[in-house]
Amino acid sequence: MKLTDSIQYLKGVGPKSFENYKKLGIFTLEDLLLYFPFRYEDVAGRKVMDLLEGEKAAIVAEIVTPANLGYFGARRSRLTFKAKQGDVIFGVSFFNQPYLKDKVDVGQTVALYGKWEAKKQQLLGMKILSAVEGENGEAVTDADFQPIYHVMQGVRQSSLVKLIQTAFDSGALELLPENLPEELLKKYRLMPRQQAVRAMHFPVDLAEHKQALRRMKFEELFLFQMRLQALKHQEKSGRSGVLLDYDQEKVATKQAELPFQLTQAQQAVLHEIFADMSAPTHMNRLLQGDVGSGKTVVAELAMFAAQTAGFQSALMVPTEILARQHFGNLLQMFPELNISLLVSGLKAGERREILEDLANGHTDMVVGTHALIQDGVDFYKLGLVITDEQHRFGVNQRKVLREKGQNPDVLMMTATPIPRTLAITAFGDMDVSIIDELPAGRQPITTRWIKHQQFDEVLKWVKSEIQKKAQVYVISPLIEESEVLDLKNALALYDELSDYFQADAKIGLLHGQLKNEEKEERMALFKAGKLDLLVSTTVIEVGVDVPNASIMIIMDADRFGLSQLHQLRGRVGRGEKKSYCILVANPKSDSGKQRMQIMVNTTDGFKLAEEDLKMRGSGEIFGLRQSGIPEFAVADIVSDYNILEVARDEALRIFADEEGRYEEYINKFDYSDSGFD
Ligand code: ADP
Ligand code: MG
Repeated sequence: MKLTDSIQYLKGVGPKSFENYKKLGIFTLEDLLLYFPFRYEDVAGRKVMDLLEGEKAAIVAEIVTPANLGYFGARRSRLTFKAKQGDVIFGVSFFNQPYLKDKVDVGQTVALYGKWEAKKQQLLGMKILSAVEGENGEAVTDADFQPIYHVMQGVRQSSLVKLIQTAFDSGALELLPENLPEELLKKYRLMPRQQAVRAMHFPVDLAEHKQALRRMKFEELFLFQMRLQALKHQEKSGRSGVLLDYDQEKVATKQAELPFQLTQAQQAVLHEIFADMSAPTHMNRLLQGDVGSGKTVVAELAMFAAQTAGFQSALMVPTEILARQHFGNLLQMFPELNISLLVSGLKAGERREILEDLANGHTDMVVGTHALIQDGVDFYKLGLVITDEQHRFGVNQRKVLREKGQNPDVLMMTATPIPRTLAITAFGDMDVSIIDELPAGRQPITTRWIKHQQFDEVLKWVKSEIQKKAQVYVISPLIEESEVLDLKNALALYDELSDYFQADAKIGLLHGQLKNEEKEERMALFKAGKLDLLVSTTVIEVGVDVPNASIMIIMDADRFGLSQLHQLRGRVGRGEKKSYCILVANPKSDSGKQRMQIMVNTTDGFKLAEEDLKMRGSGEIFGLRQSGIPEFAVADIVSDYNILEVARDEALRIFADEEGRYEEYINKFDYSDSGFD
């Protein structure tokens, strides 16, 4: 018998039920053993006298004789003893659970779970649960230990339980290898694997189940981290990256020409990035920095360094507005270089010219949207790929871009403050740099939450602020999945505000259905201060940088998620002016109210992300679903954060080990199926 044997060979599995088990993902003995219950059912204590022949129940009773354990054959055993409930004394037998012997203590009151055999006046035991004092003094079971599995049509709970029991009886459990290093079992006092798997299905009591769960969670997270580290190790050692021998002097000069001094955090991450770039291995780095922390200039300097080393670089961004903004910045910063912008909707001739220049090496730097990863976009010598707001791109999109060069260095920038928990889970194969400091002179943004009834007062205040040269964004309500309604809302808001301000404010409108040139024109007007107020849909959500803008008003703010609100708020507070964010919302749901309150209380993106995580659970956070994060069977990366951290530290330690221990683990576990890319 092998773990990889099909369950077909187990008693009770016919061709038809085999098909059904396969639908549950149960093909082999191993699959079956590792198919854990998702919860346990209450088993209330019953009176022995009331039980019917064949009925399953838990009986709280006192053990009155010591256990007698007999073996027949190599693996088959029978454990018998007598128990007493009230005046009734009855027999109890357990088959093939010899380890229960220690649990049988004369004088002890326990809850016995099993099947009643009326004729023999005996309980065919399945489990021993611990008993606790009930409300009126009588003993009840503390456990809800009838395992409940996810099943589908064609598979009954009881058949599944029986099948697992059959597998146990036939000795399948003994085949399961231990897959955690001995030293870790000892260090963290983890239950051995076989015992834990058994206890996941049929725990003896609450405490045992807890230990089993702890062990299985650790196993799952540790093996995951080992795979991530293996992946990282392979990336680094297997394929070498490009060696960007950049001109330090030129870069330093460029840096000195900036209109501001880099913050310490910016300098530190640049240092890390340059070190990666000038190493022969491949850079795979995530740059995190809250909105407004100044990631762009870091990217620009990295691109410049690549150019001085004779390589092309590409910057990919999620929206066209952002692409144009970066393009403008690069032109301004590097007037001596050839820089192009590649977006969709270019005229055929224009596009052809850009593609030619990229392919023949005339172009030094290119900024673009998804258009960059289309077929037909070829580079002459691509050495560095940067993605901005990387969480917007799926793993595959990033991969395609990377493959357009000979394994170029990759830098992914995000303002989405991925909580540490998730960063080490989802991006464990990357190095992480963090800009944890805002440029000097920034004042914290004041956030207020008002009701729609107070909107008039806000407008009055806005009018006076505009007189003082403030620039204002007003974000129209988000209508999910309807661009048409989005537009209608934005138009209505634009009309309302135009009516209100009349000649007191110059108002612009920005939405997704404008032509590219129109969008660009209106952004440029706003940036140049020729518009006082910009009504916009969320097209400006990410990255847009107009330092003079200081007021952000978000209509129906409760319709947005926390991360989006934080992104929107990040459009202000980018200059020296005191900035405000006004959330206009009459939320109906508690979570809506909670979100408004969190926004008012917190400006720190990392804290917000943690809050968001708590409120929503890990699954739907920040598009992490597409990011390559796997779904875990027993572990939950939010509530099992502590285990995750320990697992990661241990995996790191093993991989950092110089003495070849890495090989040992690589051989022991199969890392090929890493679930990544
Ligand atoms: P983000 O990290 O959100 O992408 P940006 O790179 O757009 O932020 O930077 C926000 C603003 O801060 C920009 O106007 C940028 O020119 C400015 N900035 C960046 N670094 C500094 C600095 N060290 N000192 C002052 N201003 C800076
Ligand atoms: Mg940015």
